[in-house]
Amino acid sequence: MPLNLLKFGLSKTYPEPRMFRQPDRLKSSYDAVIIGAGGHGLAAAYYLSRDYGMTDVAVLERSYLGGGNTGRNTTIIRSNYLTPEGVKFYDESCACGKICLRILT
Ligand SMILES: Cc1cc2nc3c(=O)[nH]c(=O)nc-3n(C[C@H](O)[C@H](O)[C@H](O)COP(=O)(O)OP(=O)(O)OC[C@H]3O[C@@H](n4cnc5c(N)ncnc54)[C@H](O)[C@@H]3O)c2cc1C
Repeated sequence: MPLNLLKFGLSKTYPEPRMFRQPDRLKSSYDAVIIGAGGHGLAAAYYLSRDYGMTDVAVLERSYLGGGNTGRNTTIIRSNYLTPEGVKFYDESCACGKICLRILT
């Protein structure tokens, strides 16, 4: 466990500014504002930066990063879709997953 996380967990004053930014540190405007730092919100911020060069992006999260469905799911890309459209979606998901792995490793 990272030492900072341990210190944060044991503290009563929530001192870690990088992980939990306070609203008063926000600017008055951004090129884009995304509500929710789940998989979709973070992916949108990533692709805005990568594909459109948009780096002044705020992702606003009411809790902690990935603390919604994204942090709770079983992270399975299934092959049991029953419709032709679903199978295409599955194929595309597998292709995206491989790209994602390449980026992250
Ligand atoms: C138990 C479970 C198992 C699952 N298993 C699978 C699976 O195996 N395979 C699969 O493909 N999918 C699965 N899913 C579905 C998948 O997890 C979701 O479709 C996906 O994570 C949704 O991502 P999201 O970014 O849209 O939402 P979320 O991850 O829920 O992110 C939304 C974020 O927005 C924040 N938020 C909401 N309102 C506000 C607000 N007003 N202001 C600021 N922040 C806000 C929330 O706190 C949250 O962090 C599962 C879901 C669950 C719950």
